[in-house]
Amino acid sequence: MFEAERKQMVEMQIKARGLDNPRLLRAFESVPRHIFARTNDPVLAYADNAMPIGFEQSISQPYIVALMTDLLKLQGGERVLEIGTGSGYQVAILSHLAREVYTIEFVQQLADRVKKLLADYPNVYCRVGDGSLGWPEAAPYDGIIVTAAAPKVPQPLLDQLKDGGRLVIPIGEQGNQFLEVWTRNGNEFERHVETPVTFVLLRGKYGW
Ligand code: SAH
Repeated sequence: MFEAERKQMVEMQIKARGLDNPRLLRAFESVPRHIFARTNDPVLAYADNAMPIGFEQSISQPYIVALMTDLLKLQGGERVLEIGTGSGYQVAILSHLAREVYTIEFVQQLADRVKKLLADYPNVYCRVGDGSLGWPEAAPYDGIIVTAAAPKVPQPLLDQLKDGGRLVIPIGEQGNQFLEVWTRNGNEFERHVETPVTFVLLRGKYGW
């Protein structure tokens, strides 16, 4: 259902803005965003904006999900950690592009909902807790993606990155952040500042 809406979302919102990796586009064509977004009108789930999902949280705009995913440069064999499960949409996309995806959510009710939605995704592992501490038992990761904004990069996330791995994270203050990519090279980290974004705030020990 809603294949036409998804195709249009991919063409007009993602491809038209310069993201053209075929694997990435295929993932966005296949994941039913309306299942994850909370709306009475499923067509609205494919609109060019973020949407509330309850508990003062939101599902990001499709293009931002695509951009952050693209920045991880996934080939298919990776193990990825997501902080901020939220609606579960980002993790569903990642599950098509990586070997294993671990995701942590702070709000119990959101995590419970996603566990049900993703029950038949065999390569997704969900946990409730403070994701600013990472998920050390399953580390190291080829990629870590944080979908809430931090005041600065949480050290545990850098520590849990594999050599050559990439961390994608919005850094800044309320309503005013930049997407950053940190790439590990031994014990050094190379930092790239990408684009201005607006995310909800990361809670927990290394959040707000
Ligand atoms: N990736 C989500 C977007 C989530 S919005 C999606 O695809 O829908 C950000 C989420 O981060 C919210 O659900 C919020 O509850 C969660 N969050 C905030 N601080 C957190 C923390 N310290 N650990 C885990 N999750 C956190």
